[in-house]
Amino acid sequence: MPSFHARPLQNPPTDSPRSDLPAGLWVKCKDCEQMVFQNILEEALFVCPHCDYHHPVAARQRIAMLCDKNSFQEHDADLVSVDALNFADDGSYARKIKETMTKTGLRDAVVCGNATLNSLPFALGVMDFRFFGASMGSVVGEKLTRLIEWATAARYPVVIVTASGGARMQEGTLSLMQMAKTSGALMRHDEAGLPFFAILTNPTTGGVTASFASLGDVILAEPKALIGFAGPRVIKQTTNAELPKDFQTSEYLVKHGFIDRITHRHKLRAELAALLTVFSTNR
Ligand SMILES: [Zn+2]
Repeated sequence: MPSFHARPLQNPPTDSPRSDLPAGLWVKCKDCEQMVFQNILEEALFVCPHCDYHHPVAARQRIAMLCDKNSFQEHDADLVSVDALNFADDGSYARKIKETMTKTGLRDAVVCGNATLNSLPFALGVMDFRFFGASMGSVVGEKLTRLIEWATAARYPVVIVTASGGARMQEGTLSLMQMAKTSGALMRHDEAGLPFFAILTNPTTGGVTASFASLGDVILAEPKALIGFAGPRVIKQTTNAELPKDFQTSEYLVKHGFIDRITHRHKLRAELAALLTVFSTNR
């Protein structure tokens, strides 16, 4: 599984301009390839200080960025995927689930719960690309659906931070059914007059784009995020057309009305607080 996360290195390179800093963890920017001291990158919310590249963020770190301190209360933390199809490719799905749990400390690819921001309550789901590329298996769909239904009953706004490689192919059609399930729950949330804010991060693709990611009353995206359904190579082959250079980026999609605004990660917390204030559900 390809990782979009910066890989920690134990020592700075000898030619680094920051080699005078105390020895510690360094990371190489995925975009400009310059070395950044881990602490500096963390303080910058994983935005490269050299080139502004927005590195992927683990779910727990994202929750800390968007919620009042210690306000997050997790829902359905114990739901875990089962290998209903007895699926195996280069190893059994059941074994890979266990290995990925150990490696990431996650139970599946989304963390859900309720929290406050500036004391305003909301329901929050955050996807984590490290877990099977944040593919939408049964557990992702079920946890999000339960979260949305809980928010409908409690009259809370829903916020979902997306990142996804698409469907969980190891779960076959069970994975595809999650698109309808999450969309149906959001429709009922909408009919109750409650807002849903989608925050799209790099990369958001496949069935997640084709369901809840594109259903936000307000859809924000981080800069230069890859957002699409199928990849550009497939689209090029199918349509036999030349694609624009910035195709499937936040910058392209905001021009065409698919997303409402590109929000820099440093401004995301304030932007979300403003949305929660404006769309206060008057509990
Ligand atoms: Zn960079």
